[in-house]
Parts: sequence; C-alpha cells; structure tokens
Amino acid sequence: ELTYFNGEFVEPGEKCVSIDDRGYCFGDGVYEVTRVYNGRCFAFSYHQDRLYRSMREMDIPVKMPPDDLQELHEIMIEQSGITDGYIYLQITRGVSPRHHAYDRSKLEPTMLMYIRPIEEDLSKLAAGVKAISLPDERWLHVDIKTLNLIPNILAQTKAEKKFAYSAILFRDDVCTEGATSNVFAVKDGILYTHPANNLILKGITRQMIVTKVAPSLGVTVIEKACSREFIENADELFFTDTIGGVIPITKLDRKPVGNGEPGPVTMRLRDGYEKLLHEGMA
Ligand code: PLP
Repeated sequence: ELTYFNGEFVEPGEKCVSIDDRGYCFGDGVYEVTRVYNGRCFAFSYHQDRLYRSMREMDIPVKMPPDDLQELHEIMIEQSGITDGYIYLQITRGVSPRHHAYDRSKLEPTMLMYIRPIEEDLSKLAAGVKAISLPDERWLHVDIKTLNLIPNILAQTKAEKKFAYSAILFRDDVCTEGATSNVFAVKDGILYTHPANNLILKGITRQMIVTKVAPSLGVTVIEKACSREFIENADELFFTDTIGGVIPITKLDRKPVGNGEPGPVTMRLRDGYEKLLHEGMA
C-alpha cells in the first residue's frame, strides 16, 4: 500500500485531514477508482476524462494537468510494487470554515490517492451472485462521481444484510443501475442497459462492454430505460464495475434469473472483457 496526500507520499495515518475539509463535512468532492492489472492502469484515459468532467460539473478547479496525473499513477504502481490492485483517487473542494456556499477563489483542493492490492478472489464472481431490487433514492446528477454516496451506502447495506451481493435500483418503474455498479439485461440475445444520462454513472466497464466487447462479439446493444417487468423477465442479468468486471446475477429478489445459472451471453461478454483487461487494450 502506498498513500499520496497533497503532493507527497505519506505513511497511512501520518497526515490528518482537516476537520474543516469540505470533503469531510459535506462529501463535497469527487473520486475515481482505477483497476491496476499487470502493473498498468486499465482504461486510464477514460477514468481521467471522467474525473475531469466530474470536477468541471462540480466547479472544482483542476490543479494537476492530465500528463502529471498519469505519471503519478505510474509512479504509485512502480513504488508500491503492486501489479494487481486498484488506485483510489479523491479530490475535495478544500478546507474552509463550515458554510454551505463556497468561494472558489479562496479554496485549494485536497487530493488523496492510494494504491492497494486486491486480495479477494474475484474469479468466484463468475459463478453468479444474488441481487435485490430497491428504490433509487438518489439526486438527479448521479452521472457526477461525487463522494456523496449516502443512498448507495444504505442500499448496499440493505442488500448485504439480505446476503445479496448488491442491489438493482429502480427509479419509479425504470431500472437505472446497481448500488455500486451498472446493470445489463439480455433478452432474446440482445443486450439492454440504461442510457448514459444524468440518472446513471457512466461506468468505464459499461463503456468497454457497449463500445468494445459487445461489438467485437456481434452482440447488439440497445441503450434504453427498461421496466421492472422487463428486468424480472430477462433471460440474463449482470452487473459491471471496475473491480469485479462482468458479474452474472443469478437471483433477483429470491427468484432465479433465467434458469438460475450465469447466462451464455453474459459469460461471453465476461470472457471478452477479461481478455481486454489481460491485454490492457484500452
Ligand atoms: N454505478 C455506480 C453507482 C458506481 O458506484 C460504479 C462504480 O463504482 C459504477 C456504476 C461502475 O463504474 P465503473 O465501471 O467505472 O467502475
């Protein structure tokens, strides 16, 4: 493990975040999680673009140019010696006495990064996981990857209390995404997922599936809002996220998805994604 804080490498616990940091007080900041595989950041430019977009949307000034950010990721991999893991990056609006409104000109963003190895056996996810459905109670700009994750935290905790891997969220009758992931459905060989608008986070894994893996396998993708009935009657369902990749869902609310086994389209996409990850081709 290696930790970076505001311009220097530090020992865990060595630096204290100010009690007036807006990230601590308000969750006023943004973050990214990038997969490190074979000693390289996978799909780095996508994470970088999403981070800078989140910062623009949040009106947080960018202090580190893209080349420096990339170099810092590479240095963290090299110095830590971690070849299979992830890098967490968080930038908050900075430190000021607690007041909701901010003065951009007076604030210096706080930047934190760490690299950690992945210790759990991710291959077991291939066997499929259970999901529960829950209402999507988030705000209307979840396309911005902000630190404010309270509805996600509550949903994920409810899911785990029911021994599910995660929750599928529904805004009214529409399936948006997972509590910590995107959601895909397969019906009659066609792949469906919610359009990348303000109601979902445009996941990088989702983008890899939609723009690279599915086209390379000849799988048609339709980006549309799917109803609860459609999701409940899907042949296959899966989650996608940076750490787990493509995760087959075999049970939803105690009912089997399809025949209760990871579906064939899901597994082809999973293999295709793993191949992309192994090759580092993004
Ligand atoms: N949606 C939400 C709410 C998430 O928290 C995440 C990942 O953390 C994703 C989707 C998946 O995004 P990515 O594939 O970039 O990890």
